[in-house]
Amino acid sequence: MKHASNHYDVIILGAGASGLLCAFTAARRGRKVLVLEKSNKVGKKILMSGGGRCNFINYYVEPDHFISANPHFCKAALTRYSQWDFIAMVEQHGIEFEERKHGQLFCQHSAKDILNMLLHECEQVGVEIKTRCQLDEVKAVQATASRYQLSFSQNNQPLSLVCETLVVATGALSIPTLGGSGIGYDIAQQFDVALVERKAGLVPFMFSGNLKSICERLSGLALEVGVTCKQQSFKENLLFTHRGLSGPVILQISNYWSPGDEVIINLLPDDDVAQWLLNAKQQQGKSLLKTLLSQKMAKSLVSEIQNLWWPELATAPLSDFSDKKLVFIAQQISHWRIKPSATEGYRTAEVTLGGVDTDGISSKTMEAKQQPGLFFIGEVLDVTGHLGGYNFQWAWSSGYSAGLVV
Ligand SMILES: Cc1cc2nc3c(=O)[nH]c(=O)nc-3n(C[C@H](O)[C@H](O)[C@H](O)COP(=O)(O)OP(=O)(O)OC[C@H]3O[C@@H](n4cnc5c(N)ncnc54)[C@H](O)[C@@H]3O)c2cc1C
Repeated sequence: MKHASNHYDVIILGAGASGLLCAFTAARRGRKVLVLEKSNKVGKKILMSGGGRCNFINYYVEPDHFISANPHFCKAALTRYSQWDFIAMVEQHGIEFEERKHGQLFCQHSAKDILNMLLHECEQVGVEIKTRCQLDEVKAVQATASRYQLSFSQNNQPLSLVCETLVVATGALSIPTLGGSGIGYDIAQQFDVALVERKAGLVPFMFSGNLKSICERLSGLALEVGVTCKQQSFKENLLFTHRGLSGPVILQISNYWSPGDEVIINLLPDDDVAQWLLNAKQQQGKSLLKTLLSQKMAKSLVSEIQNLWWPELATAPLSDFSDKKLVFIAQQISHWRIKPSATEGYRTAEVTLGGVDTDGISSKTMEAKQQPGLFFIGEVLDVTGHLGGYNFQWAWSSGYSAGLVV
């Protein structure tokens, strides 16, 4: 059937990771697809990701790398479009990539390679993309072939379009300057699709009082530690900053942290610290504890923990320490209990936890169960990945699942 020029089979809101993948998947099926993007440029988060090299996927993908009120929701999409599917496309485009720690894959040259690949795939199958589009209103209409009517303006020109299916791929609240917006939640609410509470994820911690001063003094220092919060543990690099703590290990644990929770840091995760200190007392009793610990930790950090845990014995040889005191210090080193005052929030968070409640969404197609023709994909949904390429994996997998049916 021939439709008017303002009619599309599929309109996708948001030209980010999930929207672009969904767009060419649907257009390959012969669908007439338009992507509406509010920014002046498409794929801004892709370009900024992974320090400009885009950690586009991970070799090891399991459902427990994803956080959601329904931990099973992600499984169907991850099976339908796996890391191997995306890697095959990257290889087909001749993009050079490298494996880093924990199976993380990064572009060898630039994140632009990934964005250009997605745009090339879109172009090949005639996907239309409009940037600088300010959405004013979405309305459901009765006709099956034109279920949604969108009013928006592009460069101050008002436009009205209709489509059979509407895909919300507008991402989430993190980093407003990179396109972060809450419009996807507004659309969900408009159509009675429930939401799960949102909060910043993969985000640095801030501290007040003495801990803030310690972080300021140690700013720039990085070391591998273990961190635990609410039975979740990660071992990776921690970075002291002027505001508090960051680095991959902190970003990972921040997904599990709520205000008021303690975080436990193991400063020497590979050592039996108590045994080591007790042996050292026997064998090198004349040494200072500070000198001993400096074999395994930066001197600046040792000075700070000395002020916290043995200031009265700062100049005493190890032989003057009671065994009980050494065991206490070892316990502090491997279980340093700290209480962040807050996270840095959406300004620097890499992702948003929570979002559109997956209970109202088909895990096979990403369509709203009670609202035919309305789809949600990517980060707007209540599915958040661990650090390591898992958030893009979710964008690709959910975008593909919807692209097969829209
Ligand atoms: C600094 C940074 C680094 C990251 N690095 C990585 C990484 O290396 N690996 C990884 O897996 N994940 C990474 N992430 C997370 C990843 O970028 C996101 O999870 C992913 O981009 C989500 O895809 P999406 O399609 O849902 O949303 P996005 O990619 O954010 O796309 C949403 C699009 O919708 C547009 N939009 C918003 N509102 C409207 C509107 N009203 N109308 C039209 N368009 C609209 C936005 O401008 C944007 O272009 C990083 C995130 C950040 C912020």
